[in-house]
Amino acid sequence: MPSKAAKPDVQAIADELVNWFGQHARDYPWRRTRDPYAILIAEVMLQQTQIQTVLGRGYYARWLARFPDFATLAAAREDEVLKVWEGLGYYRRARNLQRLAHEVIVQHGGVFPQDPAAILALPGIGPYTAGAVASFAFGLAEPIVDGNITRVLARIYNDAMPVDSTVGIKLLWERAKALVQTTDDPRSLNAALMELGQTHCAPTKPTCDACPVRSHCRAIEPESLPVKHARPEITAVTERVVFLRTGAGVLLELETGKRRTGLWKLPALHPMHVDQPPPVLLRSHYGITRYKVTLWVHEPHAQELEWPDTHRIIPFGELESTPMPAPYRRVLRELLERGEFRLHA
Ligand code: SF4
Repeated sequence: MPSKAAKPDVQAIADELVNWFGQHARDYPWRRTRDPYAILIAEVMLQQTQIQTVLGRGYYARWLARFPDFATLAAAREDEVLKVWEGLGYYRRARNLQRLAHEVIVQHGGVFPQDPAAILALPGIGPYTAGAVASFAFGLAEPIVDGNITRVLARIYNDAMPVDSTVGIKLLWERAKALVQTTDDPRSLNAALMELGQTHCAPTKPTCDACPVRSHCRAIEPESLPVKHARPEITAVTERVVFLRTGAGVLLELETGKRRTGLWKLPALHPMHVDQPPPVLLRSHYGITRYKVTLWVHEPHAQELEWPDTHRIIPFGELESTPMPAPYRRVLRELLERGEFRLHA
């Protein structure tokens, strides 16, 4: 092992990573293509979703089958876009993808730009996604830093600087840039860094003995790295909605908040009934960002039969094709399967 005080040899690390990746790369569909659209979709889906979900549950294949290119996505109805995304959560990603598709068609003549600055200027694109598309689609020496790469770099440099601090973030990007600019295969280098974090350099029990860069790594206690500022505590919140089923369908409310705008959900219980809510039909739990939500579904209160414009009876035959956040989809299906509630005329 080299002296822990010596600076890691960037050139040697880059070479080892590229060699290792050439022999051990996992086979993913987005690695078999150079199409910036297909790569972009994968990167955006994978930002907050596990590979097993994106691939194993068919989201990636379904999306590309329905929206195979920027033109198709730009021309699609928003509710259809949200419906195909349904279950992945963080719906802003889907809306931003469609905005981006519009911009590629209108501002770039339908051709995804190759200039990293132009990629970064597209709607919803941050430094990570810009670097990923630039390197994976166009082979440009642009760095990327995601959670896996953060862990790998913090360990290789044995750096206890909080990786979510301004200085820590800047340092990570500088290190990732130094590595990718050292190699003539930026595509493999970036993918190798990610894959090392998914395999040998896992959060717990890293398999350092089999790691391709073990002779360069400065980590003394790998599992203690990376260091992060304290996470915000999980907050428990209560959400109360009503289930109103008529002979024609189910009453749903169109979301207008930032996070889920354009999606439909069971209507919120009117605040005037919260202190003495109607009988409970079902209780469910779900998590979102730092919130743990208890979702109570109530019978509708008699006084709630007048509804605002955001509410609509959705016919039974259209419920499955109506875009809806996954937690509501689950409780709605369960309620409909029970089929035991009195119908409102
Ligand atoms: S030697 Fe261990 S800690 Fe260092 S990069 Fe490899 S797996 Fe991670």
